[in-house]
Amino acid sequence: MAFNSPIEKLKTSTLVKNGLKKLGLKTVADILFYFPFRYEEFLNVAKIKDLKLYKTFSVQGEIVEIANFRTPKKRIILTQALLKDETGSVKIIWFNQPYLSKTLNKGEKISIAGPLTLDEKGVYFLNPAFEKIKENQEPIHTKGLVPVYQETQGLSSKTIRRIIKNLLDQFKEKIPETLPLEILQRYQLPRLKDALKEIHFPKSLEKAELAKKRFQFENIFLLQLFLLRERLKLNQEKAAPIPINLEILKRFKTNLPFELTNAQKKASWQILKDLEKTKPMNRLLEGDVGSGKTVVATLAALSVIKAGFQVALMAPTEVLAKQHFQEISKLLENFNINIGLLTGKQDKFISKKLKRQAIEISREKLLEKTLAGEIDFLIGTHALIQDQVKFNKLALVILDEQHRFGIEQRAKLLKQARQRKGERMLPHLLSMSATPIPRTLALALYGDLDLSIIDELPKNRKKIETQLINPEEREKAYELIRKEIKKGRQAFIICPRIEDNKNSRVEMKAVKKEYEILSKKVFPDLKILMLHGKMKTTEKEKIMEDFKNRKADILITTSVIEVGIDVPNASVIAIEGAERFGLAQLHQLRGRVGRSQHQSFCLLFTEKQSQKTKNRLKALLESKNGFELAEKDLKLRGPGDFIGNRQWGLPDIAMAALENQKMVIEAKNLAKEILAKDPDLKKYPTLEIRLRKFQKTVHLE
Ligand code: ADP
Ligand code: MG
Repeated sequence: MAFNSPIEKLKTSTLVKNGLKKLGLKTVADILFYFPFRYEEFLNVAKIKDLKLYKTFSVQGEIVEIANFRTPKKRIILTQALLKDETGSVKIIWFNQPYLSKTLNKGEKISIAGPLTLDEKGVYFLNPAFEKIKENQEPIHTKGLVPVYQETQGLSSKTIRRIIKNLLDQFKEKIPETLPLEILQRYQLPRLKDALKEIHFPKSLEKAELAKKRFQFENIFLLQLFLLRERLKLNQEKAAPIPINLEILKRFKTNLPFELTNAQKKASWQILKDLEKTKPMNRLLEGDVGSGKTVVATLAALSVIKAGFQVALMAPTEVLAKQHFQEISKLLENFNINIGLLTGKQDKFISKKLKRQAIEISREKLLEKTLAGEIDFLIGTHALIQDQVKFNKLALVILDEQHRFGIEQRAKLLKQARQRKGERMLPHLLSMSATPIPRTLALALYGDLDLSIIDELPKNRKKIETQLINPEEREKAYELIRKEIKKGRQAFIICPRIEDNKNSRVEMKAVKKEYEILSKKVFPDLKILMLHGKMKTTEKEKIMEDFKNRKADILITTSVIEVGIDVPNASVIAIEGAERFGLAQLHQLRGRVGRSQHQSFCLLFTEKQSQKTKNRLKALLESKNGFELAEKDLKLRGPGDFIGNRQWGLPDIAMAALENQKMVIEAKNLAKEILAKDPDLKKYPTLEIRLRKFQKTVHLE
């Protein structure tokens, strides 16, 4: 058995193996790294004569009697035993576990742990945990700090404990160390073999804490190593330098229907400066919803196109890609640029040339033109990263709502590398996000990524008035919607999507039901449209289009409209079951209104009225700015929930540590120090292996 042996090699039942698989554990190492989430404290180890009533004790002794009985009244089976040590004897009663009288035998040595009680049956241990004591072996279930694990069907903590104990005994000194000894010494951290032992079976809570610290540090350190190495690699790559063309930029600015905000100007300038360099840009453009990231990205794209290259923009949804296509076509109307839109498989494709109507062309044609370099700017969904899509001279990749994409998808787009005089050329990368990452996390997760922040909304925006609506205030809320519509505005009504949305019928029902009620009873005189994710793309687009063109007053929809949809005339968004959405998502949804000079409203309907819900939603009332909200969300939910553990693949233990700024900085400095001396980690072969494994499990985005 090796550290990396698959669990199939374990000598255990299929049931247990299936349980392990259900927990996502594939190798022996995975099992050893499956950490307890708490410890049972059986620290009162006592001789029988020293026992006290109503306290929990751990006692070791020999069974002198054991038998099953039936209680006379309720006819419940109980197993009664007498346990003896050199100081006395004590009674034990287990309820409803008749097999115990067969498992445990007279004369056997056992260890138990549980509370000592007193009633008409006398003084006895009630349902204590128990285990047989083997020669020369300390109890692992009933004495000291006993680990408790997240269980699954067919796999109890007791079984997990036993398996882990066996593995630890089997490996002992053979567990390979992954961190260099000098680092362990410098930070006074335990070695891996000791840390594993102490995190599962700690001698004291302090030891467990120290072990935990080691794993936290290790993960954060690996993360920093990974980020830094990526960064160094990128710095060695070449990209096409894009000269700053002031004349074009001026023309772009004078063509705009509005004045750029200072924050937009600053971000644009940072991007243009990056593009001038011969190494690929890797910049994140963070800006609150509605802060105007699209214009900034378009300006960058224009520079690149005018320098003779191609640009690709990838958006997470079709509706969004199409909206970008329309908006960007307008922004670049007078610049003689060919823009293509590439979306799902079955769709039509459109290309647009100077002052001409958008025309539909076949997908094949579009791909041909892209390959030939005739399309200057290709906008699309995930369809952009299909293998058939090939560019001629791609020099800038823009990712909208970058958190929606995995690192592999990003890498795939960037792989559109070109050869120039035998030299590899990589496109510049501009990622955009409206989900601000709090500073603390950005530091930990993005390393030294270049960041541009648009922290200012266009001048004409008013603060969106956000209200929590109790069930009895529903009528009043509907009145507000009606009033706004009378003024010529439009309203969104959002119905929650059921969390585990395999059963998406529930989601549609919610929207459909609301549609029925509102269109027949509440607003029979108004024009209402309905939109949800199960509709055909063409249908969805038609509805969005109609709503944008004011062909309806109200749009009832699921959160499919969450990202980026722009309907400036809408001034109310009502969100049903607001407690089901994350704060960041609610903030995104709220950003669908307040996109013009009109005063806008966000109405949060709640089904549950718990204090916790209210507190959480209050954060939304109090902060108008996404960055402030992100900090709050992080505090309320912790880093794990905030960025979504599964999405990142970082172990829980590391997620918690991300907030420990001191540790992050130390890990980062250490990673820098090591890579400066030894960029390929030649002196640290085990670390290199560990890092490679880490890279596979983590998918940062
Ligand atoms: P986001 O940052 O959420 O992607 P958008 O780029 O979609 O925001 O911009 C939101 C709206 O604001 C668009 O209708 C856009 O035309 C408009 N806009 C962008 N910049 C400005 C500005 N400086 N002044 C006024 N309106 C602007
Ligand atoms: Mg946007």
